[in-house]
Amino acid sequence: MDLDEGRSKLVNYLERNGFIRSPDIREAFLSVRREHFIPSDIASLSYEDTPLPIGEGQTISAPSMIAIMLEVSDLGKGMKVLEVGAGSGYNACLLAHIVGSGNVTSIERIGPLLELARSNLRNCPRDVELVLGDGTLGYEANAPYDRIIITAASPDFPSPLIGQLKVNGKIIAPIGRDRMLQRLKVGTKAEDGNLLVKSHGSCVFVPLIGKFGF
Ligand code: SAM
Repeated sequence: MDLDEGRSKLVNYLERNGFIRSPDIREAFLSVRREHFIPSDIASLSYEDTPLPIGEGQTISAPSMIAIMLEVSDLGKGMKVLEVGAGSGYNACLLAHIVGSGNVTSIERIGPLLELARSNLRNCPRDVELVLGDGTLGYEANAPYDRIIITAASPDFPSPLIGQLKVNGKIIAPIGRDRMLQRLKVGTKAEDGNLLVKSHGSCVFVPLIGKFGF
């Protein structure tokens, strides 16, 4: 099976099983080639529904997990999005397909991974701003954001990120102190600055390391 066939089979599988529900998310998964974000020696695994190593002890998440996070994020064209944990750059490219070029900022704390994301994102037809730093502090320069998506497990929602979220904006993260199991949570910022939090299913992510993380 070639990779194009693999991609469309994966998207059909994600739809059939309810992971992809929105046409814009389907379109993004069909447009972005996951093999451009995966080490070349394991590129044949690009369309398996599994997390894969990207170096530095980090992973690109399984497509079904990414689809779940994108669906609960309730994204729309023109929204300003901050992603914490650029990793390979794959999710940032999907996000930029959905919300539009120039609307996504992605922070990564590990220098070589930021360079990997920069190189991989040359294959992404949408612009993404990449920033090196501790994402638990957010990125004030482009705030406030409509959505903040944390792609690593955090003990709680980092308070600086809540500060950089618009009222009615949403923050999405795997939350939990257990390194082996978290819950995907979505916090919506109320007028008074507090978060209204909804819990979605269980998940397992690499830890968010930083001042307001682990
Ligand atoms: N979104 C990525 C992708 O599409 O490939 C996968 C992200 S990977 C599961 C989690 C990433 O979060 C790792 O690259 C890790 O280095 C990064 N990370 C962990 N703590 C961080 C922090 N405080 N700030 C920024 N990135 C962080």
